[in-house]
Amino acid sequence: MQIKRRFIAGAVCPRCGEMDRIVMFQDEQGQFRECVSCGFKEKMVVDEGVKELETRVTQERKSDPEVQPIRFFPSPKKKSS
Ligand SMILES: [Zn+2]
Repeated sequence: MQIKRRFIAGAVCPRCGEMDRIVMFQDEQGQFRECVSCGFKEKMVVDEGVKELETRVTQERKSDPEVQPIRFFPSPKKKSS
């Protein structure tokens, strides 16, 4: 399982006070934020609905910026076997 880490822009570490040092990542135990500067780590309480929506939107933007029709059936009649 690959753990994605991403920086939170403008986030300030509650321990050391550094800005832009907070990364967010998710594993099987939940979503965490961690300070790469001092090692501060905290589990985040995320609403499931919001999390799912955010993930879906992010993935769609990354892989497919434009809305494209999805073809479920690759027209089997084209094959002349
Ligand atoms: Zn810190």
